[in-house]
This record gives sequence, C-alpha cells and structure tokens, in this order.
Amino acid sequence: MKKHFYANFKMNKTFKEIEDYCKNFIQTVKINDKNEIALFVPYVSLKETKHLFKNENILIGAQNVHFADNGAYTGEISAIMLKECETDVVLIGHSERRKFFKETDEDINKKIKQMMKYNVKVVLCIGETRDERQMLKTKQVITNQLKKALNGLYENEFKNIIIAYEPIWAIGTGEVATNKIIEEAINLIREILASLYNSALSNNTPILYGGSVTQENCKSLNKIKNLNGFLIGGASLNPKDFSFIINSCFKE
Ligand code: PEP
Repeated sequence: MKKHFYANFKMNKTFKEIEDYCKNFIQTVKINDKNEIALFVPYVSLKETKHLFKNENILIGAQNVHFADNGAYTGEISAIMLKECETDVVLIGHSERRKFFKETDEDINKKIKQMMKYNVKVVLCIGETRDERQMLKTKQVITNQLKKALNGLYENEFKNIIIAYEPIWAIGTGEVATNKIIEEAINLIREILASLYNSALSNNTPILYGGSVTQENCKSLNKIKNLNGFLIGGASLNPKDFSFIINSCFKE
C-alpha cells in the first residue's frame, strides 16, 4: 500500500503564501508512485493550488464539505462545488469540526455518503479526548465513531475511504501518542472493519496517524506496523519540515 503524507493547513495561508510554499516544497520533496502526498488547503485556494501542481503527483484536498446537494446553508460548500474545483480528497470529521462546529457522527456519515456519490476520496478522522482515554473509554469511542460514520457504506466504496486515527489530546499539543497506543488503535480499527465487512477490505484500507507528528518523531512513528502514513497539521506548514518528514519516511 502507498505511504500517505497528508498536510492539513487548517485556516492558514493565503494563496500567495501557498505559492511560495509550493516553490520551496517542490525543490526539496521526493515524489514517486509508492507515496501519496496531499495538501488540504482553504477552499478559496483549491483550484489555483491544483493548477500550481498540475505537473506533479500531488493531491489537493478540502477540509470539509456540506452533506446537502445545495440549498439555504449560508457559508457552506457542496460536493459538486468541490468537484468543480478539482478537489481530489476531503477531510471529514476532523476533531476541530466536531468541537467548534458541533458536527455529529450522523452529519459525518451523511458527508461521507455525499462524497461517495461524486466518487471523491475521503479521510475520516476519529479519536478520543484525554478524558475519554483516562476513563478507559477509548475502545468504546473509536468503535462508536467508526460504526456510525461508516453506517450504510458499500464495500466497493472503500476504494475511496482512508481513516485517520487522531487522538484529540495529541492534536497541536506537542504530545505525540506512543507507538503502542497507535498500534492498539490501528488493530482495533482493522478488527472493526473486518467484522463490518471482511479482512481483505480491512487490510486494504489505509489508516493514518495524526497528532503532533514532527521531524523529530516521524522516524520512530514510521516503524509502526500496519500504519499507512500521517496526517500532519503544525509541522506541515513549513515546506522544509514537511519535506523532511516525507523524505525520512519515504518508500523508495
Ligand atoms: C491535525 O490537525 O490533523 C493535526 C494532526 O495537527 P498537528 O499535527 O498540529 O497535531
């Protein structure tokens, strides 16, 4: 399976800043078909960023989508609008969307189904809070989030599904999860996928880790069995840091 290196810019970088980023990034990053690189940029820069990379094998992603086709949802963006911007992949259920915008597992399920209609890849983000981990509820939370988000999805749609395990206590805190914690979460996610569908689907679904991945810890994280890459926030904002992480973990 490809190694995934996905960068979540969040609400950072104007298009001018993305242009500067790209010049630098292209000069330093290694690219080949065994790896998959994606940049999740603000909506307003999707189309232009896609054109910046027209000669490179780099995917361009959106950070959210609305679940309706169209309608009275002021400020929202639909799947067809993302298609029009040539979006390759969409983040769904990021913990910041769940926390600040009160997205529920049911909303997330509808958003995933919406993107499936348009045959666009999604990254489903799941993960527990610090309190939930301390109260030994991690397994229950991950199981619940996963089952609700995937409810009603068909086996053949999994060619477009990637799962990111992002413990909320590790996002933007500098406190990376241990390899053991990540391994346990990946095993659990694969067990659930196997029980909901089958073991081939479970083994073929990419699972990424996100939460304070840096230049310093990426090599150790890269040793985790069964892990197919990283979703990176803070450390992806600097093109040299993101390239360093990719080049250190790159599949030749
Ligand atoms: C994220 O926002 O998905 C993320 C993983 O952020 P950070 O790398 O900054 O923890």
